[in-house]
Amino acid sequence: MNKVQKIVDRLLEIYGHPIWKDDDPFRTLIRTILSQNTNSRNTDIASQNLFSRFKTAEEVANTNIDELVDLIRPAGLHNIKARRIKNISKLIMVKYGGDINRVIQKGMDEARKELLDIDGIGPKTADCVLLFAGGYDILPVDTHIFRVAKRLGLAPTHVDHEGVKTALENQIPPEKRGPAHMALISFGREYCRARNPRCEECPFG
Ligand code: SF4
Repeated sequence: MNKVQKIVDRLLEIYGHPIWKDDDPFRTLIRTILSQNTNSRNTDIASQNLFSRFKTAEEVANTNIDELVDLIRPAGLHNIKARRIKNISKLIMVKYGGDINRVIQKGMDEARKELLDIDGIGPKTADCVLLFAGGYDILPVDTHIFRVAKRLGLAPTHVDHEGVKTALENQIPPEKRGPAHMALISFGREYCRARNPRCEECPFG
């Protein structure tokens, strides 16, 4: 077993396998956009506000932008995120008849490529949709995972986001990629924080 797998297995012992699924890819997509640059509590509040009012891409696409801004305000960057969410919803209406599932079902590689072609959807967002809504064995890399992977030597120090994703996926068995995503984020929040990491108590210190 390689070093990466040993570390991931230890993390899975600590944090369990807390993978969640959401059958609604539109909700997963919007939630991931809302989560950018904020914590999960603020994301939850904004997400609940939005989805208690709207259920479909069509409803979001047709809403008044000021109402959208107000609903998602708890997530921060609300003006930018509201415009992004509205534009993406419009595109989903025009290009996919309101059903983003039409993209997800194309298979992981093609779906990823097509999602990344949508303005406002970056690699982390695309990969979260593919993992949580599509059920694909993919490992989304967020800011915590990017930092932890470098500090723990799970990926070369010089590689970018895609390089970290490739390094992790090459060494972590497919069925553990989703749980590893969750566990690495938990570890990054709890121990290997950006500032003041808790190295004294770190299980890998
Ligand atoms: S918490 Fe400290 S010792 Fe542990 S992985 Fe992060 S930087 Fe390294």
